[in-house]
Amino acid sequence: MENLYCLRCNRELEPGDKSVAVYMFAQTVGIRPRQKSAAKRIGFCPQCAVSLAMGPPPEGALNLAAWEMIRELVSSDPALNEAAWEALQGFSRLLSSNRVETNLRAAVKGYLEF
Ligand SMILES: [Zn+2]
Repeated sequence: MENLYCLRCNRELEPGDKSVAVYMFAQTVGIRPRQKSAAKRIGFCPQCAVSLAMGPPPEGALNLAAWEMIRELVSSDPALNEAAWEALQGFSRLLSSNRVETNLRAAVKGYLEF
């Protein structure tokens, strides 16, 4: 199974992780035989999806099309926003864990002693 990474922040999206997938394939129209490319899957973590949707429109027709779809998802239901919020909360909890705090205190102490 291929590993999927967030296209924006390069975070690994493991199976079972919440994410937004954008599927893309190309197909000939009005040409025989009809040809179809393999489908490509592009992933975004919830934080990046919400951040992209809240941000200004990107340049390029394909980017704009993907941005409009992500905006549609983000604005139609708060579930994606909640997933981003949960991930962010987990991250700040990690930052305030004792070990980091002790290191920070040591760093501040070291700085003050100079
Ligand atoms: Zn991301």
